[in-house]
Amino acid sequence: MDIEYDVLIVGGGMVGASLGGALAETGYHVGIIEAKPYGTPGQPSYDERSTALALGSKRFLDRFGIWSELTHEAAPISHIHVSERGRFGAVHIDALEQNVQALGYVVPNRAFGAAVLSVLKHAENIDLIAPAEVEQVIQSENEESVEIRFLNNIPTDCLRARLVVAADGTKSPIRQKLGIPVEKHLYGQSALIANVTVGKPCQGWAYERFTPAGPMAMLPMGGDRYSLVWTHQDADLNSTLALSDADFLSALQQRFGWRLGRLKAVGQRAAYPLGLIRSQATSHGRVVLAGNALHTLHPVAGQGFNLALRDVEALSRLLSEGGDPGRESLLQRYRHLREGDMRTVINLTDAMVQLFSERGLLPGMLRSMLFLGADGLPGLNRLLARQHMGLYGAVESSRRLQNAEKFPW
Ligand SMILES: Cc1cc2nc3c(=O)[nH]c(=O)nc-3n(C[C@H](O)[C@H](O)[C@H](O)COP(=O)(O)OP(=O)(O)OC[C@H]3O[C@@H](n4cnc5c(N)ncnc54)[C@H](O)[C@@H]3O)c2cc1C
Repeated sequence: MDIEYDVLIVGGGMVGASLGGALAETGYHVGIIEAKPYGTPGQPSYDERSTALALGSKRFLDRFGIWSELTHEAAPISHIHVSERGRFGAVHIDALEQNVQALGYVVPNRAFGAAVLSVLKHAENIDLIAPAEVEQVIQSENEESVEIRFLNNIPTDCLRARLVVAADGTKSPIRQKLGIPVEKHLYGQSALIANVTVGKPCQGWAYERFTPAGPMAMLPMGGDRYSLVWTHQDADLNSTLALSDADFLSALQQRFGWRLGRLKAVGQRAAYPLGLIRSQATSHGRVVLAGNALHTLHPVAGQGFNLALRDVEALSRLLSEGGDPGRESLLQRYRHLREGDMRTVINLTDAMVQLFSERGLLPGMLRSMLFLGADGLPGLNRLLARQHMGLYGAVESSRRLQNAEKFPW
């Protein structure tokens, strides 16, 4: 049977679509299979949320024409203010001090979806296969390809590829079918998201505030609009969701304070359960995992998609070398390039959630020391800034790649 594709990406969410964008105009024939029709609100990546894109992510997206489609929708982050309710000390990270125009950018997910779709539609080497739901993945006996079977045989009964990328989300049906185990830690928390109109214009300030109930973030969307991510203990979520707009704004004002003046209006609210889900393997045969299928993180530090984009960057760089895209040596190098950054970001994010959820004197003192130290010590502040900007992970991958080129054994 013919092998129709070099690379088949299962899942056309933010991660699968971005990988497609990075592989546009390469010598590979690529297919992106998505269960939902493109551009519909049902697609999990393109809902009401906004994403804080690190500077490193912006630079990566710029290379594939995705950023130029997005600039008019992207609001720059010039300052990040991190504080804890009821405690002295705050961390302030400033773009000018870090010698950059912006620490990152806030982009509505819908706008991101539209930008990446427009790039994919113009790429001659990419087929968008949607709506189509993958039911099975079968690795061929001679190990030269993978067969994808579709639910209800729509749009065809099967397709073959040399490499399959499972970018099919947190529950990843492909990861489950291949029997790849995961480490799973549910936090008993959910993120409530909504857009909020504030009394004072944004001027590029992003706020991260830790409260006894969980962290909250206010991300500038430009003008007087903010994107709110408000963590709730699961038991408290429904009562906040059920509040009238006026009561919701007053509860939020009480938690967040008055830094942005009076909170004036709130849009549609939605909630997402939060947990850490980490796959125990990056690949299996000719199938490699990416995005939430590989690691799903708490959004406390806005790192999930940024980390996934660095994975995508490393994978696309390796694929740009040409040859069999599913060869074992390439997939091993992918794991080697990415394991350090993945471990650091996942562990730091998890530690942050744990530290700021703990009550008691000792965790409280530790948090105060962290705030005072991070604001007072330029070295620590710079380290935090670079982590936020997503620059360490990219530099680390690139360093490993260069070392691998110098010392290929
Ligand atoms: C509240 C919240 C705020 C966040 N904020 C940030 C932030 O500011 N910065 C940041 O970096 N990250 C953030 N994240 C993380 C970010 O949203 C995720 O990293 C990103 O959405 C992962 O995208 P994905 O494409 O891997 O998965 P998904 O969005 O889940 O996409 C998977 C796709 O696969 C498709 N699919 C599934 N199964 C099949 C199948 N069998 N056949 C075909 N298609 C299939 C689905 O339809 C879907 O379109 C946030 C997360 C949350 C919950």
